[in-house]
Amino acid sequence: MSCRVLPFPSQVNEVYTSIFTFLKTKNGRQRQIMLLNIRALLDEHHISHYNYGSFSVHCTADKDIAYIYGKQRGFNKYCPQCKSYLYSADGPVTILSIIEGIKTDRVTYGCNCGAIFYKWEKK
Ligand SMILES: [Zn+2]
Repeated sequence: MSCRVLPFPSQVNEVYTSIFTFLKTKNGRQRQIMLLNIRALLDEHHISHYNYGSFSVHCTADKDIAYIYGKQRGFNKYCPQCKSYLYSADGPVTILSIIEGIKTDRVTYGCNCGAIFYKWEKK
């Protein structure tokens, strides 16, 4: 009996790795690679999002916008994992996506310690 090996798991890992490489480097080129990998994964499998447990990756129908959606909620001004301050310009925490509301935004943050989380931020 033969079986066909699908590329799904390696692509899933590639997206995962590119996200954490970006969080380590916070480099513009790594951000591009991360977003392209997310698009490629979702496009190839004709899915709009993929669930990684503590976060998920999404793409709009026109494939223009790819983004990361945190699921663990942060409650204060510090990373829930390593306690780094969120709002310093040269700090380890970076914004991964913002979903805008009328009074509050749902902001997903990523930290170079590996934490991905969201916070409701008042406008
Ligand atoms: Zn952290």
